[in-house]
Amino acid sequence: MTCIFCKIASGDVPTALIYEDETVVAFRDIRPLTPSHVLIVPRKHIPSMWEFDDPIIGGAILCAAAKIAHLEGLEMGFRVITNAGKHGCQEVPHLHFHVVGGAPLGPMLRERD
Ligand code: AMP
Repeated sequence: MTCIFCKIASGDVPTALIYEDETVVAFRDIRPLTPSHVLIVPRKHIPSMWEFDDPIIGGAILCAAAKIAHLEGLEMGFRVITNAGKHGCQEVPHLHFHVVGGAPLGPMLRERD
């Protein structure tokens, strides 16, 4: 197994675990962009959103995102993001969702000139 997120999901690589169930694990991003920055990863290896087609896993990810927002005290707001592929600047080729918050995040997209 070479995938770092598979290793984290299986417990082979230690991490700061925030939440886990039979379908997903969630842990702190090692390079946080915001005061709270948690990654949600399905236990099953799926490379990205492009290959994704599983409503059970999708539901588990969304439920985990809501739980994490509560656990992290993000009542002021937060954002859930997935990056996919080259244009999406995906760094780790195992589907994951970022839950970011803990400070004002600003608008998601800036107006183009
Ligand atoms: P993405 O650009 O959406 O693929 O984001 C990948 C994220 O994974 C980045 O924010 C990294 O900081 C994070 N990351 C990479 N390796 C680890 C790791 N071992 N533990 C926690 N976060 C990681």
